[in-house]
Amino acid sequence: MTALVIGAGPAGLMAAEQIARAGHKVILADAMPTPARKFLMAGKSGLNLTKDEPPEALAAQYPETWIHPYVTAFGSAQMQDFARDLGIDIFTGSSGRVFPTGMKASPFLRAWLSRLDALGVQRHTRWHWTGWEGRAFLFDTPEGPQPVDAKVCVLALGGASWPRLGSTGHWAGLLAIKDIDLAPFRPANMGFHVAWSPHMQPHFGKPLKSIAFLVGAQSLRAECILSARGFEGGGIYEISSKLRNGYPLALNLLPDTDIATLTDRLARPRGKESLSNHLRKATRLDPVKLALLNEWARPLPQDPEALAALLKHLPVPLGAPFPIEEAISTAGGISARALTSDLELRALPGIFAAGEMLDWEAPTGGYLLTACFATGFAAGRAAAERLSSSV
Ligand SMILES: Cc1cc2nc3c(=O)[nH]c(=O)nc-3n(C[C@H](O)[C@H](O)[C@H](O)COP(=O)(O)OP(=O)(O)OC[C@H]3O[C@@H](n4cnc5c(N)ncnc54)[C@H](O)[C@@H]3O)c2cc1C
Repeated sequence: MTALVIGAGPAGLMAAEQIARAGHKVILADAMPTPARKFLMAGKSGLNLTKDEPPEALAAQYPETWIHPYVTAFGSAQMQDFARDLGIDIFTGSSGRVFPTGMKASPFLRAWLSRLDALGVQRHTRWHWTGWEGRAFLFDTPEGPQPVDAKVCVLALGGASWPRLGSTGHWAGLLAIKDIDLAPFRPANMGFHVAWSPHMQPHFGKPLKSIAFLVGAQSLRAECILSARGFEGGGIYEISSKLRNGYPLALNLLPDTDIATLTDRLARPRGKESLSNHLRKATRLDPVKLALLNEWARPLPQDPEALAALLKHLPVPLGAPFPIEEAISTAGGISARALTSDLELRALPGIFAAGEMLDWEAPTGGYLLTACFATGFAAGRAAAERLSSSV
């Protein structure tokens, strides 16, 4: 009996593999001319496969607890074994992040597709799923409309960021009319706009280093990049879901110096020196940090204690998040309520779902791919069991 997997990103490839390994025929269809374009894009900046940490620590990175059993059953160790099993050498960086030695996704994808071909998975590209015709799944293909009758199906259609790579989120309309409960898409792991004054222009493209982001009770040592549009890069991505949800942001510009020491240094007599020169000498603030202080806190307080407090807690007038199309990932999608523990859609028996199209989010650090592999694994296994039991 045939299984259909729609979406050839990492979640769909994993689901297809599990079904084929159980001895079933699998059709794997994707709308794009080639598979896994977002996965390949992820490899451009170094494919961070997972984080080398124990299952509980890994699961704690996903705020939606419903996903914890999946990333616990298929977590960091399983991701690493999976890569090695494909013949991909991996290494763990000092931060615990795990990468292929070559950093890229293409050798990984090539090896994976060859393995799927050897398992007999029938791959189709330029097959765009458009809905149902009776019980059959209907595709727009270069040869015209193509209905596919399948006993089980795994949907792995991705989120709604980087639509040019295939993850358009258009599938939400097809599931909404079937009364599937969906959470609205929101950007995740994205930059934020800042309305800079012209004074900041010389600093665009420069890193903001050795600072701590202060968000709610969290103080996070991080780095980010100042761009003409605002803040971008890893550090800001890490706190982006809290910022998106309305938490105010402040910067600790000197996280290694306590406020009393700073106050003492700033209280030293400054003679004829300007406040700005005195500040620079007393604190050794780099030009980017000095520019930010002037951008947001002028006129600077003369009082050493007030100035020290500002250096330790500089409020940031943050603008809107960058558009969802540019985000690394998306929150929202099929809600946990719509799914059984086998990741089957309650309203559409026999149809399973996996990957970023489900309603979970996580920071960067390999957590996104780990959850896509983990849910693809679970949905694929469950679909295979359904097929086996209905033979
Ligand atoms: C720049 C960038 C860097 C990243 N780096 C990392 C990283 O280092 N580590 C990490 O963990 N994560 C990273 N990610 C995130 C990661 O790539 C995604 O979370 C992951 O690819 C999602 O997998 P998926 O299989 O759920 O969906 P996708 O990879 O989005 O695949 C979905 C597939 O479904 C197909 N599809 C959609 N609609 C239809 C339709 N109607 N009919 C047929 N096919 C359809 C699409 O063409 C696509 O191929 C990065 C993302 C980006 C954008």
